[in-house]
Amino acid sequence: MTCGGCSGMGGARVDPDDPAQRAMLVAEGTRYAEAHERTILAAGGPLSAGELADARRVGVQHPERVRVLVTDVIPYPEDAELRSVMKRYGLPPEMLRGKTLGYGIYLATPAAKSWRLLRHELVHVAQYERLGGVGPFVREYFRQLFDSGYGKAALEIEARQTVAGW
Ligand SMILES: [Zn+2]
Repeated sequence: MTCGGCSGMGGARVDPDDPAQRAMLVAEGTRYAEAHERTILAAGGPLSAGELADARRVGVQHPERVRVLVTDVIPYPEDAELRSVMKRYGLPPEMLRGKTLGYGIYLATPAAKSWRLLRHELVHVAQYERLGGVGPFVREYFRQLFDSGYGKAALEIEARQTVAGW
């Protein structure tokens, strides 16, 4: 399914290899992540006892800070250039079942019961902590996304491998 109305400004040719444009994308991605982390922290629920244990197991330092918000549709960035670049590098909106923004985790309704998905997202929480917060995570995540694509980004590989066979 394509995303009607997502084409925005007509597929602007954003070039993440250009340092100035990459910096703009990182800044926009950071704004998106910070805004939605605030939304999730305000409206989401805390982890259950079992989920807190899962979070500790994957290395989250402050699992009590995590909030999970189940939603029909995970909000995609409004910025047309950021959207077009994320799609180009393997993150189409219709693929999003879960998304971690700092201590906030969005789970899409059909996926909300998936323990494996929540554990995957908790690995991303641990990565945010390890890298030093939202800004540094977004910068590193985008670097890997633009260099390797979603499927081969090291932060995604780590999340997949951590929960594989669990
Ligand atoms: Zn992931």
